[in-house]
Amino acid sequence: MPLLVSVSGIRGVVGDGLTPELVLRVAQAYGSWLGGGKVILGRDSRVTGEMLRGAVISGLMAVGCDVVDLGICPTPTTEIATERHGDGGIIITASHNPIEWNALKLLAPDGLFLDEEQGAEVMRRMEAGDFRFARWDGIGKLSHYAGAIKEHVAEILNLRFLNVGAIRKRRFRVVADCVHGAGGVILPYLLDRLGCEFKILHEEANGLFPRKPEPLPEYLGELGEAVKAFGADFGLAVDPDVDRLALVDETGRPLGEEYTLALAADFILSKRPGTVVVNASTTRAIDDLAARYNSTVVRTKVGEIHVAKKAREVGATIAGEGNGGVILPDVHLGRDAPVGLALILQGLLEKEEPISRWHSSLPQYFMVKDRIEVGSASAVEIVQRYKEKLGRAKVDLTDGVKVLLDDAWVQVRPSNTEPIIRVMAEAPTPERARRLADEHLRILRELLKEVSESGA
Ligand code: MG
Repeated sequence: MPLLVSVSGIRGVVGDGLTPELVLRVAQAYGSWLGGGKVILGRDSRVTGEMLRGAVISGLMAVGCDVVDLGICPTPTTEIATERHGDGGIIITASHNPIEWNALKLLAPDGLFLDEEQGAEVMRRMEAGDFRFARWDGIGKLSHYAGAIKEHVAEILNLRFLNVGAIRKRRFRVVADCVHGAGGVILPYLLDRLGCEFKILHEEANGLFPRKPEPLPEYLGELGEAVKAFGADFGLAVDPDVDRLALVDETGRPLGEEYTLALAADFILSKRPGTVVVNASTTRAIDDLAARYNSTVVRTKVGEIHVAKKAREVGATIAGEGNGGVILPDVHLGRDAPVGLALILQGLLEKEEPISRWHSSLPQYFMVKDRIEVGSASAVEIVQRYKEKLGRAKVDLTDGVKVLLDDAWVQVRPSNTEPIIRVMAEAPTPERARRLADEHLRILRELLKEVSESGA
């Protein structure tokens, strides 16, 4: 399994490439780039997190950084703590990746992920061994901080959009699936503060994921059953580092990750119309909703940092990514599942109808996500030829090639991290989305053959 080095950090399989030696070098490079100061450290619940934590702390202290360890902690919580208390931050998490993976996410002093320029500089230092080791009397100090979760939840409860008293009175019934990730350290506390009657599945943050940890509809069967058995108003699932939120309605049916942001945007836009910032792959339900509320949509390349920076630049009212990532700039510029949960509760309170009905009041689209493996052929070359082949079709080149049709779209983009080309299609019916995806997959397969035969 290849080790994936990108501007946002380093990612790999433990025991097969991702070693403490390597993580130590990343930490030394990052701390040298920061030039000392206080680094906030959080990690998700992965069983390999504790082992990597030792290397990260050593590397940071060796180059003169003080480390404030939050222990097992969600990504959004670590981002907020970094913004408030730190000069930088590192999160040991492979997000939604399977159990054998782990990774480092590197944060800038403002609590956002490193941008391309910052990340490239850290990686350059790592590769060149350009470290600024401290003398014995300049080594950093290690401390622990247990207040980050409370601060995060307090920020949420203070949101002007929430009527916490009324939510508490409503006594929502909720089931949450924490997949034994870091959700277990924040969701029960937040649900309790919001007066919910709740049941938590896989609460203990022990990293022993009972299923694939990505909160996709196909993995949420157990949650759906539990929602029905508990008579819940809805169910929710988060990924191991708690930046993605997926919802299940009161009948146990998954609403699909795209609709987490759509519901949150429907609620926020009804209170505060403005600009919504989303990535180029997010559902067009967002555009329809923005039109409903006299608002505008700005799209960016896929990746939280692109969305967050644009949201800051344009003063977005809400932002996010269709994969269940809700960003409310009032709290911070990062994807935050607990924030999304609070907005859904307030929205449901005001709608006075089941979540299934709220969902069906939104514009309905269906998305197909597929991929083609390109092996040793160049994905970029294939996508370039694909673009030429489209002729005069209306396209958007924000990220890869997105073909815009009247009521549908198809997006084709080379992956940055794997030898694949991602193909997504969205249309008003699932059949049409599938047909569109298949049609463009066929074109790509032909081009793959061409490129492979020409040796390009
Ligand atoms: Mg995540």
